Amino acid sequence: MEIDWSGIETKWRKKWSEGKDFETDPNEKEKKFITVAYPYPNSPQHIGHGRTYTLADVHARYYRMKGYNVLFPMGFHYTGTPILGMAKRVEAGDAEIIDGLKNIYHVSEKDIKTFVEPIKIADYFHEEIKSGMIEMGYSIDWRREFTTIDPVYQKFIEWQINTLREKNLIIQGSHPVGWCPKDQNPVSQHDTLGDVEPDFTEYILIKFKFGDFVIPTATLRPETLFGVTNLWVNPDIRYKKITVDGEKWIVSAECARKLEFLDKKITYDGEISGSDLVGKEVTIPHRNEKILMLEASFVESQTGTGLVMSVPAHAPFDYQALVDFKKSHPLGSELQLIKPISIIQTEGYGEIPAKEAVERLGIKDQNDPKLEEATTEIYGKEFYGGVLKQNTEQFAGKKVSEARDIIKEWLAEKKYSDILLELTNTPVRCRCGTECVVKILSNQWFLNYGDKDWKEKATLCFDKMSILPQEIRGEFNYVIGWLRERACARQHGLGTKLPWDKDWIVESLSDSVIYMAYYILAKFVNAGTISAEKLSKEFFDYIFLGNGNSKKVSQITKIPKEIIDDIRNEFSYFYPVDSRHSGRDLVPNHLTFFVLNHVAIFPEENWPLQIVVNGSVLMDGKKMSKSMGNIIPLRQAIRDYGADPIRLAIIISAELLQDADFNLESVSGIKNKLVLLLEECSKLKPEKLSNLEAEDKWIRSKLQSLISDVASSIEKMRLREGLHNIIFSFEGDLQWYLKRAKAKKRSDYSGVLHEINTKRVAMLSPFAPHIAEEMWEKLGNSGLVSLSSWPSVIADIIDPVAIQSEELLKSIIDDIANIIKVTKMTPKKITIYTADAFKSKAYHSILEKMMDGQTNMGEIMKELIANKETSDIKKNPDFVQKTIKDILSEPVEIRKTKLETPEFDEKSWIANELISLAKAEFGVDLQVFSESDSGIYDPKGKARHARPFKPAILIE
Ligand SMILES: [Zn+2]
Repeated sequence: MEIDWSGIETKWRKKWSEGKDFETDPNEKEKKFITVAYPYPNSPQHIGHGRTYTLADVHARYYRMKGYNVLFPMGFHYTGTPILGMAKRVEAGDAEIIDGLKNIYHVSEKDIKTFVEPIKIADYFHEEIKSGMIEMGYSIDWRREFTTIDPVYQKFIEWQINTLREKNLIIQGSHPVGWCPKDQNPVSQHDTLGDVEPDFTEYILIKFKFGDFVIPTATLRPETLFGVTNLWVNPDIRYKKITVDGEKWIVSAECARKLEFLDKKITYDGEISGSDLVGKEVTIPHRNEKILMLEASFVESQTGTGLVMSVPAHAPFDYQALVDFKKSHPLGSELQLIKPISIIQTEGYGEIPAKEAVERLGIKDQNDPKLEEATTEIYGKEFYGGVLKQNTEQFAGKKVSEARDIIKEWLAEKKYSDILLELTNTPVRCRCGTECVVKILSNQWFLNYGDKDWKEKATLCFDKMSILPQEIRGEFNYVIGWLRERACARQHGLGTKLPWDKDWIVESLSDSVIYMAYYILAKFVNAGTISAEKLSKEFFDYIFLGNGNSKKVSQITKIPKEIIDDIRNEFSYFYPVDSRHSGRDLVPNHLTFFVLNHVAIFPEENWPLQIVVNGSVLMDGKKMSKSMGNIIPLRQAIRDYGADPIRLAIIISAELLQDADFNLESVSGIKNKLVLLLEECSKLKPEKLSNLEAEDKWIRSKLQSLISDVASSIEKMRLREGLHNIIFSFEGDLQWYLKRAKAKKRSDYSGVLHEINTKRVAMLSPFAPHIAEEMWEKLGNSGLVSLSSWPSVIADIIDPVAIQSEELLKSIIDDIANIIKVTKMTPKKITIYTADAFKSKAYHSILEKMMDGQTNMGEIMKELIANKETSDIKKNPDFVQKTIKDILSEPVEIRKTKLETPEFDEKSWIANELISLAKAEFGVDLQVFSESDSGIYDPKGKARHARPFKPAILIE
């Protein structure tokens, strides 16, 4: 059957919209406030963007069905530089960007022409993205939509920034930032190609004296200065002679350029070749002792200063370079006398740890890549477990982990050192294409994310919060650990001006951290109830913090008191945020800042309660990118395949944190599945259920576990598992049910199927909302499934006997099928032997003992023999052993069910249920005996092998 997806989807979206079904105002119900990171409208959405929003929508729809008053709103983030950069590129006629717009996203020439104005780009893609979200069926309250350049939003951001400044959390100072030298602007994740956050490392420069010059070497381990034996220099590098704040230095050209951005005055005085330095001596800063500069090829000009302090006892690179050096120099040369100087004692290592690591890893020379591994090993072991030896002067006896900072301070105080900041994840490129650097930004505005008290408060919030999936929690702790001052203003871009310094604009990762609160205001702004010019600090303080009173705020703002009360009540009702959804790439910035800003501004009762993080989407196993040509615009995909199949294909391919692998094959597989289910629903009619047969009781019991399993999966955001259970796993149970009913030639089970599919469709509805409405209607149910209640688990329907007896039936059928397969015989007659009553008693007794933790077979046996009811077990010694094995092979759940249900009469049950099924399955008659029946037909003596739930089988 071909179905008209677009027709069905349009029909139901129209109903939702006409009924204002997802518009949410406070009411007497309990609320859930679910938000997801708003989009940045500088391109249309592709399949990858759809994932986070789809997951959040399922979450919102589920809680709505669970009876919560769910608010799920959406805004648009215009702030920042990317749109500006794009407008410039369009204006310059950049072929790459224009081709992409035309060919991937099918933007018309006419529209592209308007894109020289940044705001036109944002508006165009805003509408495009919004239409896509509506077409995906997201249950959004669109009355609360806004953009971050709306006048009231800007007032809100001014209030946020002023509040942080009042609390001393925005400070003026000089701190390092990622920087684009071309744009003269700080850069963070939003501003870089490939969305990478510039990450940097602080090196200590140790200043060795060389005549009038300083030769600085960069290190992360200042304590190792005490073990220096020589410097390494690369004879092929041409070094720069520069003057740094009045001091003459020799460094690589790359290092000189880095220093230019680090708030230093630099002049260039000339060059010197590395080969001219080889063999010369430098003086160690803290003692008047000379060491040689020797040649080494591993030294690179782009790392550090292009010169390296050699500590062969503790640095594997240095050790190996020394070994290499000695090989190329004649025996007897005084250079052969250079020996590693050991300064750190670490458990598990001898005198020269670097030598041990190099030899263990079989490293051949200084260009061996395994040296990195050796370095990491020694670095970690010595930092956490090392103690400084006597030859480290006043620092002897200190742990390395404590001494490092002390030595760093001592070096700085004595002016033996300086600082070099370097990007760790190079190269980081700005969206304009320029390679970024680290810059010390002087006298600028910073969010003081390095503040200890602030970090502690955020940690407290994280500790109390639910984080899904749980395994990502450590990443947040890690981010909080390294976070420091962060520039919060930019000179270019769209956004809100700093209230006290209008030359600066609040940057885009700082004006997007508490906007969830703004959704409350947006409804009133969009309705025309409040406008920007009336709003003051007192207004925001009252609405969001409860400070002051509505009467006073009304006098100041001229807004009627009742409206102010309404807004405040609405905020108090919906806040805090119950769940915040976002992609994993926002863990180190947005999601962490979201928590930091909430704990800084709001009282504890309004701190966020949950964060949900998802992985990205791959296309046929590959990353989606323009250059790969594998980007599928979301709206295009909806037109081609329908919204629901795309939603399900995204969800079914991965659990939360994994990357979802999207492929068209799975979309069409899912489409077929949905079509079949729709057909099935069209045939079923509600019927009163009466005279329930064993299989009816069983499938209805299974349905109850399905309902509770799916609910628990969704609550843990294990959506793949939940969806899989609804549409695939349960299908197996249904097949079995139909086989059973048909074997009995029944015609009265449509009512059961109707009941089951009604519940199934309800559970499917958060995942595939449009087609579920259609199925719901076809089933003859009234109202909208989106607004129906989540099916409840009815404990009375769960029938443990039905569950275990059906399992027994399945295993007998499997056993018979296996025997037939193995023996390749064509059966003429099947005989089944069930176990004696005393075995059944013994079975229960064994099960009970095992559930109590008894596993000793001798003990179990002794107790069974001592009991008159089960003492016959003596005649059947291997029964106990085999029964223990049977029990162990079953899941604990099944064991529990068996324990809780009374013994049942296997013989008559099999006689009632199995005969029709065996006839249908194998086309033969079947007989059942209990092993001690008089007149038993047992030509092969099989009966005595029967065990409870394991009858003996004879096939002839
Ligand atoms: Zn740039």
